[in-house]
Amino acid sequence: MADRDGFIWYDGDLKPWRECTTHVLTHTLHYGVGCFEGVRAYYTPRGPAVFRLEDHTKRLFNSAKILGMKIPYTPDQINEAIKEVVRSNKLRECYIRPMVFYGSEGMGLRADNLKVHIIIAAWPWGAYLGAEAMERGIRVRTSSFTRHHVNSVMCRAKANANYINSMMALNEVMRDGYDEAILLDTSGHIAEGSAENIFVISEGIISTPDLNSCLDGITRKTVMQLAKDFGYEVRERRLTRDEIYVADEAFFTGTAAEVTPIREVDNKQVGGGKRGPITTKLQAAYLSLVKGESDSYPHWLAAV
Ligand code: PMP
Repeated sequence: MADRDGFIWYDGDLKPWRECTTHVLTHTLHYGVGCFEGVRAYYTPRGPAVFRLEDHTKRLFNSAKILGMKIPYTPDQINEAIKEVVRSNKLRECYIRPMVFYGSEGMGLRADNLKVHIIIAAWPWGAYLGAEAMERGIRVRTSSFTRHHVNSVMCRAKANANYINSMMALNEVMRDGYDEAILLDTSGHIAEGSAENIFVISEGIISTPDLNSCLDGITRKTVMQLAKDFGYEVRERRLTRDEIYVADEAFFTGTAAEVTPIREVDNKQVGGGKRGPITTKLQAAYLSLVKGESDSYPHWLAAV
C-alpha cells in the first residue's frame, strides 16, 4: 500500500503518497489508541459522490471523543478534505480511510504531550468479499473469540485497537476455509461480523442485534431505512446463534461489504443456501441508492 502514486491528506495538506510515513515510536502503533472510518465514494450520474459523508465524519468525531482525542479540525474541514482526496487522486469510485492517531511526542501510557494527527487516504476497492459473494452469498462460522464486553472497549468507537478482536476471529475462521466470522457477545448472543453488522430474516421479519456489542453501522442504518420503506418490519433485539441456523435468510452489511448474503453458518445451510428474495431486494436497493440511481435520499450523496 505504501508504494503508490497519488496524494494523502496529512494534517491539513495533500502530500505525495510515498512521503506519508510515521516514526516507529508513534504512540498509536504501540498502544492502539486511535480511531478511523471506512467511507465509500461511488460513481453516480452526477459524477463521483461520497455516501453519507457527514454521518461518517460525525462517527469519527464521536469515536475520538470516546477515546479522549481532540481532532484539531472541524467536521466541515474533514468533509472538505475527504472530497479533496477523492478529487486529487482522480478517483471515480473508491474506499476512503480517514484515521486519527497520536504522534511520537512521548512514550508510555502516561504521555501527556501527544499531538493528534489525522490522515485521509483513498484507493479503488471493489466488492470487499468478491463479486461472486455478492451473488452467491458467503460461508461463515461462529468464532471462538467473544466480542468486546461493553465495558472493556467501547463499541460506539471505531477504534484501532478494537480490531485485534476482529482479526483474531477472522483469521481463525479463514484458516479453516470460511469467508467471514460471526462474533458472539459476552452473553452468547450474536453481536456482528468482524467488520460488518448482521441481519437475520424469518417469516418476513428482519432482525438485527441491538447496539450493545456492535458498531452503530451506517450501512445498517441505511438498510433498516430501506427495509422500512419497503414495508418490512425491522426489529433490533437480542439474537441467538441458532436463530440464524433456522432463518430464511441472513446477510451482512458494511461500507466495505455493502450487503453481502450469508448462505451458510457453522456448516448449516441458511434458508435455500443462496441469496434470498428479501436480501436480493435490499441489496439491489442499496446499490442503486449509493450509485445515485434512485431518487430517494439524495442528501446522502455528497458530490466531490
Ligand atoms: N461492525 C464493525 C466492527 C465494522 O468494522 C464495520 C465497518 N465499519 C461495521 C460493523 C459496519 O459499519 P458501516 O456500515 O458503518 O461501515
